[in-house]
This record gives sequence, structure tokens and C-alpha cells, in this order.
Amino acid sequence: MKTFSLFFQFLWRYKYLFIVFVFILLFQSISSAIQPYFYKLIVNNLVSADYWLLVRILLLYVGVRIFENLISVATYYLGDRILIPASRDARVKVFAQVQDLDFAYHTEKNTGSLISAFKRGDNAFFETFHNFIDLFRIGITFIVMFLFFVDVDWWVTLPLLFVLIVNVFLIRCLILVNMTRRKEFNNAEDEISAIITDNLINFETVKFFAKEVWERLRLKKSFDNWSDKLWRFSNSFRLMDISLGTVSNFGVGMILFIALQRLVTGKIDSGDFVLVLGFIAGFFPRLFDMFFNLRSLATRHVDLRRYFQVLEESVLVEDPKSPVRPVSIRGKIVFDDVDFSYPGGKEGAIADLGLTIKPGETVAFVGSSGAGKSTIVKLLLRFYDVDRGRILIDDVDIKRFTKSDLRSFIGIVPQEPVLFNDIIAYNIGYGLDCLNQKKIAAAAKMANLSDFIELLPEKYQTMVGERGVKLSGGQKQRLAIARMILTNPQIIVFDEATSQLDSESEKLIQESFWRAKKNKTAIIIAHRLSTVRRADRIVVLSDGRVVEVGNHQNLLRQKKGIYRRLWRLQTRVDKN
Ligand code: ADP
Repeated sequence: MKTFSLFFQFLWRYKYLFIVFVFILLFQSISSAIQPYFYKLIVNNLVSADYWLLVRILLLYVGVRIFENLISVATYYLGDRILIPASRDARVKVFAQVQDLDFAYHTEKNTGSLISAFKRGDNAFFETFHNFIDLFRIGITFIVMFLFFVDVDWWVTLPLLFVLIVNVFLIRCLILVNMTRRKEFNNAEDEISAIITDNLINFETVKFFAKEVWERLRLKKSFDNWSDKLWRFSNSFRLMDISLGTVSNFGVGMILFIALQRLVTGKIDSGDFVLVLGFIAGFFPRLFDMFFNLRSLATRHVDLRRYFQVLEESVLVEDPKSPVRPVSIRGKIVFDDVDFSYPGGKEGAIADLGLTIKPGETVAFVGSSGAGKSTIVKLLLRFYDVDRGRILIDDVDIKRFTKSDLRSFIGIVPQEPVLFNDIIAYNIGYGLDCLNQKKIAAAAKMANLSDFIELLPEKYQTMVGERGVKLSGGQKQRLAIARMILTNPQIIVFDEATSQLDSESEKLIQESFWRAKKNKTAIIIAHRLSTVRRADRIVVLSDGRVVEVGNHQNLLRQKKGIYRRLWRLQTRVDKN
């Protein structure tokens, strides 16, 4: 029910329209439901053979039909005026929530299955609305019919109530089965969607390892499960059709039989009999519509629930209630006795980290893979909150800044920048509020990227491909440097590429980095020790702990030092 209440909250945003809509719908439903009453009037007055009275009844009947048709159009029109903006609001809210959710949520999520769940939810939003309208109409038809039946004769009303109660009970049981099977089917479908999306994203890896056939077989296996679940889901509909159909037809028989008995014993007249006939002829097919709508609502409920589930996810890394909002910062960073473990990960990704980085200083973090270098940056950006200790920028705990302010102080050049499938200019200017060609070109020049761009036939308008596949690793990093230069942050983080770049690319990247660095505070996550030689200080990490700190010369002097060992290892490899 919580799901439907959320659904109605979106509709309620347009409450005045909604109230008018419900009133019109009520009128339309009543005028449509009362039509069998005209049959009774006609039959009863046929005997009197008053021609003009019959004409008046017929004219009234046609008038009600025309009125009903016109307000039916009005209900659809008004319904769309509410439904279309409400579904847009829901989409925007879900999307905004996904954007707000923590880094941790995004590392766990499965893009493919999330997209497929969103698509289904969006569809369900429209369907649910139409299901409710139809159920409302059917409900009004039933109430009108019930009142007329009571007026005609209680004995005819009783089997009607009996059929309805039995059907409601049956629907309840069958819908539970149907919903469970729908959930199983949805899971199977999400699994397939996830495999396909993962394959599309990792097409290079699939091709490198010639795994096409293997991937096809993997998909086929998942499709076997999918077919099985779909088969079970479809069969639950057949079960519904048989049981509900039988009970309803039995009910029709009972009502007609009793009405006939009452007619021959003179308890009701022929007009009443025709009225009962007219109502059940119109209503029993609608009873089937009611089953279909309830069945559909049960399905939509599952889809909407999954859609709105995102809204229930709580943001763990929250903005402060009254944030500190400095206009600019100097760039001092303090890690004050910081401990951190990833949720569900191994203990102590970072342990006892105490370090002060002065404004304008360049500190390089080195250490083997998994030592905790990237984690430090994630903590600095508040992708996660520390478990113990504090991180300060200009002596203010970073929890006291808004996340967006904090991240605007820090510019990142990731190891493998992922680009938007758009033109180069868009990707360079992403951090700006509006694209400024001059600034973009100047930043590209500083990042040693302009020579390459000028050689492209469409220059800054060149599309980079999905995730930036049309650019090399080095070019992507220089593009990320250009992007960072444009936003002009006081703290910069350079995550050096692990992949081997040719020395020309490496030189271009390093040149542009140091040019962009100027008097900013810089953190380098270094994989090549040649880069760190220029750093003011080098921090060596091992298993989440700081094990050595010093500049290049100092660290080389430590006979048993890790840095000295790494340096020797790398220079030996380079010489070879
Ligand atoms: P480095 O950057 O030095 O290679 P990381 O900071 O990425 O190392 O990782 C430090 C440790 O945290 C590693 O043991 C790694 O497996 C673990 N880790 C990194 N990211 C996650 C995550 N999202 N969930 C759980 N554990 C993680």
C-alpha cells in the first residue's frame, strides 16, 4: 500500500485538477451505469402505447449517451493533464535520488538491471492510473446496479452479492500467486538485462579473449531460466481465467433463474426483468475487466515498488544542517588519526592515518596495489565517511562543508577517465555551467591536447564515443587535466595511469600536470616512481598504514626502506 500511496502523492501534486477529475469521472460513471434503467422505462411504457412518451424516453436515453460520451473524453483529457506531468515528476525524482545516493550505492548497483527496472516502473506508472480509473468506474457501476437490484427485489440481489464475495476471495488468493511469479520473472529478466549491458560495456574484453561463444552460452542459460519463469507466470493467468469465469457464469445463471421465478410468481414485472437482464449483460463482462484490472494492479505494484525502492534508499554521507561555505580555500589538508574499512570489505583499508599537507605542497602516495592510495582520495572527497578520526581542509572538518562545495575545492584527474558520449568540447567543459569555446581551447592548450584536437577533421566537435573509446588512455588523461584546469580548484589529485604509456605520452601528461599545478596543493597517486621525484614529500603506504614519509633523497637513504626497494626494482626494470 505504501507504494500506491507514493503513487497518489505524485498525482496529488496536481490536487485541484485531480479533484475536478474525480468529480467528472463520477458523473461519467453514473451516466454510463444507469442506462439499463431506460430499458425498464421503455418496456413498462410499451404497454401503454403512448407514442410521445416513448419518444421522450428515447430522446432522454440518447441524450444521456451523448453526455456520457462527451464527459468520457473530458475525463481522458483531464487524466492526461495530471498523469503526464506526474509521471515526469516521478522520473525526475527517482533520477535525482540515484544521483544523490552514495558512492557505495553506485559500486553495488547493477546498471543494466536498474535501467530495466526503471523502464518497467515508468510504464507501470501509466498503467496503474488507468487501472484505478477503470476500477473506479466498475465500482460505481456495481453500486448503481446494487441500488436498482435492492429496489427491484432482495432475492435477486442475494446471488449477486454471493458471486461478488466468492470472486473477491478467489482474486485475493490468485493474485498472491500471480505476484510471486511476477517477481520471479522480473528477477530473471533483470539478470538477462544485466548480462547484456555488461557485455555491451565490456565488448573490448570479450573480443580480446574471444569469449563471444562463451558469453552467448551464458546468456542462453539465463534465458532458460527466464523462459521457465515466464511460463509459470503465464500459467497463473490461465488458472485465474478458469476459476473466475466459472464462478461468474454460475452467478449469471443463478440471478436469471431467480429473476424468472420472481417474474412468473408476479413479484416483479417484465420491466424489472429487463432491467436485471440489462444490468447483468453489461456488468458481468465488466466483472472480468475488474479481474484484469486487479491482476494488472498486482503486477504494476511489483514494478512500481522496485521503481520507488530507490527513493527509500537512504543517503549515508549527508550534508550538514548548517554548512560552512567558504568562498575560497588555501588548500591545507589534515588527516587526523583516520581509520576506515569498506562496508562489507576487509578490516582496515586505512588505519591510523595522521598527515598534514601544507597549502601548495605536493604529496605523493606510493605503495603496492591495494595499499589504500585511492581510498585516501575517496575519503577526502567524502565518497565515504571515516570510521574514526577527522579529515580537515583549512582546519575545518570536511563534514561541515556541503558535498558539492567540498568537491568543487578538489579537482581530480582519474587514472582512467570515463568520458560522456558527446563531443570533445562538452567533455572538457563539463565542470563549467556554460560552454565557453575560448576557455576550452586555452585549457586544452595547457593540457597539451590542442595539437591533437586541431588534427581531427571536426576538431572540438568530434564525438569521443561511448565512455571515450575513440581516445587513447593518454589523451583521455590530458582531457581530464584540461577539464580540471577549467574549474580551477585549489587542491588537485592526480591518479597516475597504471597502464604503460609511451614515454612521449607520459611526458605530455606530466608536463601538463605540473603546468596546471602551479601553487595549488597536489596529491599524486603514483605508480611510476619517476613522477614522484618532483613531489615535496612521498608517503609510502602498506596495507592501509603509512610506513615511510620523506622526500625522494631521504627515502632512498633508508637502507631497509620499502621505497628504496621499490625504486631499485623499478629502475632495474626500466634499464632492462
Ligand atoms: P590502491 O589504490 O592502493 O591500489 P585501494 O585504496 O583501491 O588501493 O584499496 C585498498 C583496499 O580496499 C584493498 O584491499 C581493496 O581491495 C579494498 N577496496 C577498495 N575498494 C573497495 C570497495 N568498494 N569495497 C570493498 N573493498 C574495497
